[in-house]
Amino acid sequence: MQTLHRLPERPDPLLTIVVPCFQEEQTIPEFHQRITRVVRDLSVSCEILYIDDGSNDRTADLLRHYQDGSAVRCLFLSRNFGKEAAMSAGIDHARGSALIFIDVDLQDPPELISTMVDYWQRGYDVVNMQRSLRTGDSWLKRMSARGYYWIMQRLVDMVDLPTDVSDFRLIGPAPVFALRALDERSRTLKSLIGWVGFRTIELSYNRTARHAGNTKWNAAGLFNLAIESILSFSRKPLRIFSFISFGLFISSICYLLAAFVAGSFDIHHLLVVIASFMCVGVAMVGEYLGVTLTEVKRRPLYFLKRNSKTSPVTLHPPSSSIESKKC
Ligand code: UDP
Ligand code: MG
Repeated sequence: MQTLHRLPERPDPLLTIVVPCFQEEQTIPEFHQRITRVVRDLSVSCEILYIDDGSNDRTADLLRHYQDGSAVRCLFLSRNFGKEAAMSAGIDHARGSALIFIDVDLQDPPELISTMVDYWQRGYDVVNMQRSLRTGDSWLKRMSARGYYWIMQRLVDMVDLPTDVSDFRLIGPAPVFALRALDERSRTLKSLIGWVGFRTIELSYNRTARHAGNTKWNAAGLFNLAIESILSFSRKPLRIFSFISFGLFISSICYLLAAFVAGSFDIHHLLVVIASFMCVGVAMVGEYLGVTLTEVKRRPLYFLKRNSKTSPVTLHPPSSSIESKKC
């Protein structure tokens, strides 16, 4: 095991760097070395929070070796829940008032963190890192990402989702507070962060190849992620179905009337009308289910921006500076 790069004690950090890890024994040592170097030179006090997402290689052992209970802390999930759940655990357990999410495989260069912190201190609440080059990703990954953003931008109407933003981002105290107020189970952080709003900037970077090991995503996983995002943020698919079935119903009534007038009516015409009528019924049930889903989530109706006169870098903003209202 390599020598430890100890960081100074951080009883009350301003920033938490959340690092989800799953089967990453090959990447963690190099990542830890680079991140500790970055953290040491940062202008704000900072803790590193590793989350072991139920790995069964040496990941947990390595993390246990690095944790010091102060500047480096670890959470160990009981099994592999997926990156989204690991990041949510990070949001729940971070001690810093602002968060940075970063992958441990070094596709996101830790050295960019100081630039992200600079933008935060200049008053941005969310600093998204946007991949200008994806030299480290396979052709399939690049194409599926392009398809994902194409579909999302057409189907998801409630969220501002810039293309090619990764999970590598900084979120300030106000959006962290807002995210903690969202209690829904089915969640994709990328869309939720877009949904809560606040002053946001995209900075481009080159996403390089993995330091070691393989990606944990496959086509089925990416497809599931896309479906989750669409279902949690859009009722458009239901609405499209409603329009089509209503159109079908109207045209089948016209068809029936035309058959009556032409004297060519038979029982099949009636069956077409009944089938399209049932489609309208299913669409209606879907619409009501869609509304119920929105109600069950009980997302706050809005969040107020922090008072713009206060300094952007404030520890634990006073509860009056940001308010939420439940539906
Ligand atoms: N990861 C995780 N749980 C999982 C899958 C991945 O915590 O079930 C972590 C992984 O260790 C890495 C980050 O999420 O730090 C990104 O994973 P990966 O590199 O496989 O995804 P890609 O970069 O290909 O999108
Ligand atoms: Mg990766």
